[in-house]
Amino acid sequence: MPAAASSRAGSSPSLAREVELVSALSGGVLPRERSASEVWQLPRSTAAVVCQLSPTSPNKPVLEYDRVVCPHELHALKPREAAMKLYHSRRRGEGEEAGKVELLQAFQAVEVAVRGFFSVYRPSEVWRGRHQFAVPGDFNLTLLEYLIVEPGLSLVGCCNELNAGNPHSINQKRYISGIKIAPENRSLEVSTTTMSTSPAVVDHDHGHDHLLSSVSSTSTDSPAATMPPRPSSLPPTIPVCDPHDGPASLQLIEDLTTHAGAIQQRVLREILSMNAGTDYIRGFLGFDVEGRHADELAAAFKERVPVVEYEDVKPYIERIANGAPSSLISSKTITELLTSSGTSGGQPKLMPSTEAELDRKTFLYNLLVPVMNKYVEGLDKGRCMYLLFVKPEIRTPSGLVARPVLTSYYKSRHFRERPDSPYTRYTSPNEAILCPDSAQSMYAQLLCGLARRGEVLRVGAVFASAFLRAVKFLEAHWRTLCDDIRAGRVDAARVTDAACRDAVARVVTRPDPALADAIAAECEGEGSPAASWRGIVRRLWPRTKYIDVIVTGSMAQYIPLLEFYGGGLPLVSTMYASSECYFGINLRPLDRPEDVAYTLLPNMCYYEFIKVEKDGEEARDGKVVDLVDVELGGYYELLVTTFTGLYRYRVGDILQVSGFHNAAPQFRFVHRRNVVLSVDTDKTSEDDLLRAVTAAKRLLAPLGGATILSEYTAYADTASIPGHYVLFWELTPPPLPPASSGDEAVARRVMAACCAEVEAGLDAVYRRCRSRDRSVGPLEIRVVSPGAFDALMDLCVSHGSSVNQYKTPRCIKHPDAIAVLEARVVGRFFSDTVPHWEPFNVVDAGAATGTDANAATAS
Ligand code: AMP
Repeated sequence: MPAAASSRAGSSPSLAREVELVSALSGGVLPRERSASEVWQLPRSTAAVVCQLSPTSPNKPVLEYDRVVCPHELHALKPREAAMKLYHSRRRGEGEEAGKVELLQAFQAVEVAVRGFFSVYRPSEVWRGRHQFAVPGDFNLTLLEYLIVEPGLSLVGCCNELNAGNPHSINQKRYISGIKIAPENRSLEVSTTTMSTSPAVVDHDHGHDHLLSSVSSTSTDSPAATMPPRPSSLPPTIPVCDPHDGPASLQLIEDLTTHAGAIQQRVLREILSMNAGTDYIRGFLGFDVEGRHADELAAAFKERVPVVEYEDVKPYIERIANGAPSSLISSKTITELLTSSGTSGGQPKLMPSTEAELDRKTFLYNLLVPVMNKYVEGLDKGRCMYLLFVKPEIRTPSGLVARPVLTSYYKSRHFRERPDSPYTRYTSPNEAILCPDSAQSMYAQLLCGLARRGEVLRVGAVFASAFLRAVKFLEAHWRTLCDDIRAGRVDAARVTDAACRDAVARVVTRPDPALADAIAAECEGEGSPAASWRGIVRRLWPRTKYIDVIVTGSMAQYIPLLEFYGGGLPLVSTMYASSECYFGINLRPLDRPEDVAYTLLPNMCYYEFIKVEKDGEEARDGKVVDLVDVELGGYYELLVTTFTGLYRYRVGDILQVSGFHNAAPQFRFVHRRNVVLSVDTDKTSEDDLLRAVTAAKRLLAPLGGATILSEYTAYADTASIPGHYVLFWELTPPPLPPASSGDEAVARRVMAACCAEVEAGLDAVYRRCRSRDRSVGPLEIRVVSPGAFDALMDLCVSHGSSVNQYKTPRCIKHPDAIAVLEARVVGRFFSDTVPHWEPFNVVDAGAATGTDANAATAS
């Protein structure tokens, strides 16, 4: 039975000391104190503001509303230890600070403690005019004194300290929902809310969600009553998201992120209730899981199931590929294997997937629509020119399909039979997207995109590299494309795939010479050929509002080219996903690429994080923490426990916490662990490179038996499309200047062979990009003069590297480092052979049993 009460805690501002306030409130309201992480907040209690010392009056704290954050965010952001110690010692009057407790000092200590965390936020986020304040933790009442005198502040949200309670003992309790500050005399009026909870519900589920859902209502005169009602329960694990219903979808995001902690706990319980009986999990839990309570399973899971890498789960996955039942790892049938761009033993890793995963992916895609609509108007008034492609697939010996995750999605009915919607109306017919020949698919999709030029409101591809490849293709083929538009046909010699050709013919239905002329005029351009294509995307599709491509992580190297061709169109990275699972979305899609952060959706899988150093090395404590326990600014490696049979699995991505949306952290993608080179979806590690270079340098013999490779490093040159790997090699002794053209020919032949050998030694994804997708150009070796690597070392040392610990970096990115070597190049050589690639094959291990199913994937 809900009710609300108001009681007066009348105080003049200066007298609102902690003790007085507490006593004024303590009429049955103060429950037992609990640790911060167990603190329960009234739903939507309020936002919190962060305070700063005013630079203009350093002795007086002036509240500046620097950023609005939710109370649980502050829990996650533990103030700096030293500052908190100082604060506590002053409060308690201990040590040297005994007797010197002053609220101002305390406030300053708190300010010092929190400022470091929030200074990262940009001034553009300053939110003035918000009249609500709540800070969790035990300094809020101290701060209250300062808040009360703050003009304009009229409502202080519920204080955790006062509302902290033991969920098990709650039956009928009154909670502080807010403190109103009277504008005329700044006196305080405390509003409380009575809530009832069912002990049974609480007992069965310790999640905060049930507590939240059991708040029946608040009285109309309570500040909390003005806040939007909460959902009566947590959103389901795969919520229905109607992309046309913007408000409901956005509310769903609020609900998911507000209850991130509770949803994560529920996800883990759901996964375990489904999969605790699998061979994999049972093997680690070591007890009969039948009839065990979900909480017990969750605790045992965290204690006993190890953090793993692909090599650890590979034997299970390969056994399934060879016909073993899915129940090795999943109670739901594994319906396909997704081939990741990460490799193991040179071949793509295989990630299990189930039918329900497609629903989860569709849910995430649907969420992107309302988020985008919030920032860009009128996206329903035209089409998207998204250039999407499928890649080859294979069948495993057991008949399972293995293919890349996007190929799986585009071939699913979720994509092919998507309901007609103005937001997902593409220029490309499905048949063009699903055409297995990538050159035909590209031609067909660009033809449709140009034919529907006037309708296009956004353009894009999944990754920046793919979009730029399309621009390059257009540069090479625009004349033929214009011919087709002029004639109202699709060139049958170019598009031989009948389904694709017929579908395009339904788009290019009539001759349109005017359109062809207009396109040709833009493509011909004026001045130098390079300059003429500046802004071509904007000029060819003038209604386009943004380019939808991922430009974070390794794709950031393409930003300058995208800006060149896009003519200033915003670059929008909408989501963060992988073959293992789709993770999160970008809630502020128009942010600059360097500011992009992904909010991990707590219903997609169970996330954990290993604390790492900035460079991705595991931190000394290397603790594994939950989603809601990551700290602002911290670097973490992502672990996932999926609904499909991966448990505490290291994805290999290093992320940095850059903020929070409600209780859900937002992450900047930092880099992928162990990847030093990447041009498209290829991911080459230092080890891969070393292995390939080691094999290649043996071919140097014809240059003179004594020639050795003394130093090397590499970088991905993406100044032109397709990008390619560049290796700088320093040879000892330096190759003699060619005495004759014959010598030069030998040197060219040897070095080209070295380039080809390096390529042959790289993994299957690299070789696929080179040979099938043509998304990576021929590898280049640039031979540098003696001493070039000493100059590189000098540069690194001048930038702060220690001379003693200096090791030649095997990959360089900094333009100065590249320039140092570039200035010393004495010869450039390219691979003249396309490396061999064929779809990999999961070998039937036949009688493979147990975990020794080393059914090694082989080319
Ligand atoms: P794959 O397993 O081949 O699907 O590749 C997934 C990987 O691509 C992720 O683990 C990331 O390393 C990378 N990736 C996916 N989405 C993004 C993104 N939005 N920004 C940066 N990297 C991404």
